Amino acid sequence: MNKNKRDREFYSVDVGDSTFTVLKRYRNLRPIGSGAQGIVCSAYDQILERNVAIKKLSRPFQNQTHAKRAYRELVLMKCVNHKNIIGLLNVFTPQKSLEDFQDVYLVMELMDANLCQVIQMELDHERLSYLLYQMLCGIKHLHGAGIIHRDLKPSNIVVKSDCTLKILDFGLARTAATGLLMTPYVVTRYYRAPEVILGMGYQANDIDQWNKVIEQLGTPSQDFLMKLNHSVRTYVENRPRYAGYSFEKLFPDVLFPADSDHNKLKASQARDLLSKMLVIDASKRISVDEALQHPYINVWYDPAEVEAPPPKIPDRTLDERDHTVEEWKELIYKEVIEWEERTKNGVIRGQPTALAQVQQ
Ligand code: AMP
Repeated sequence: MNKNKRDREFYSVDVGDSTFTVLKRYRNLRPIGSGAQGIVCSAYDQILERNVAIKKLSRPFQNQTHAKRAYRELVLMKCVNHKNIIGLLNVFTPQKSLEDFQDVYLVMELMDANLCQVIQMELDHERLSYLLYQMLCGIKHLHGAGIIHRDLKPSNIVVKSDCTLKILDFGLARTAATGLLMTPYVVTRYYRAPEVILGMGYQANDIDQWNKVIEQLGTPSQDFLMKLNHSVRTYVENRPRYAGYSFEKLFPDVLFPADSDHNKLKASQARDLLSKMLVIDASKRISVDEALQHPYINVWYDPAEVEAPPPKIPDRTLDERDHTVEEWKELIYKEVIEWEERTKNGVIRGQPTALAQVQQ
């Protein structure tokens, strides 16, 4: 495509501290959130005639951590297709060449709120269990493709007012986990699993989090300690000893709707599920498959949602890759251009779509 034609396709608009340069089909941009990678806007897509979310990744190749995350997200989002994982509608860059390449825009389905907002609300058991069921379906689908999230938290989970739920991103690459600690972006670690905390070294925040875990659940048993490597074991052994609290104390009835016999039963099922999930030793923790069969969850079980065939990931080395900034720039640029080419030819995820045919 010639340079002038491409220029004419885009326009710029200021959102917060950032400028979004987007295809003209996207109108009415409004900021709706921000995360480690940048700002997210809602917009109206004049071609699809629906609202969408647009995330701007600013210079995603600027360092190893950003680059790995952006590349992983692009590659994985292209192949994962499940109702509980956010779907990618479009990818573009306003820059015209690899030399000029700066920013990537990801266009996604728009949801209404993230889970940080929803957990402030009083939810009944029907909604609570349905939200959990959908998270488990999404996680099972990712696990089926060999993707382990490692960073699931309320800001990474979005919902609609009809209670449908989608997981927003693909979490931490295995080898990016420690790198992330060196960036100022990672704020919330309270949702990380104990083994992820222990695997990350002992910076002040992690120690604080490990202490919080053992204060509530109690110091783990000797057989757990024996599974740790020497330096982690020494660290864990030198923490103060805690007896922990019972799950009745940690999650009393007042935290749940328990105003009728039905709700009392549901509250005790919810507490039972929590007691099986919040287990320090991962080998003794309930698995995703088992959780889907738990009485609190299995009322929603639908084989079409739970057992959807896992996506095929073309690049198995995703987590291990290390590149220079210039190489990352080229790899990410190629992914964006490949998407643009693919949609230009009327094919998305291997299928012709109306969306692809109308894209300029
Ligand atoms: P992220 O940068 O992907 O972590 O997103 C940051 C925040 O933007 C999230 O916590 C959500 O509040 C919001 N957000 C991101 N993507 C969407 C979306 N597709 N629909 C609605 N809100 C979103």
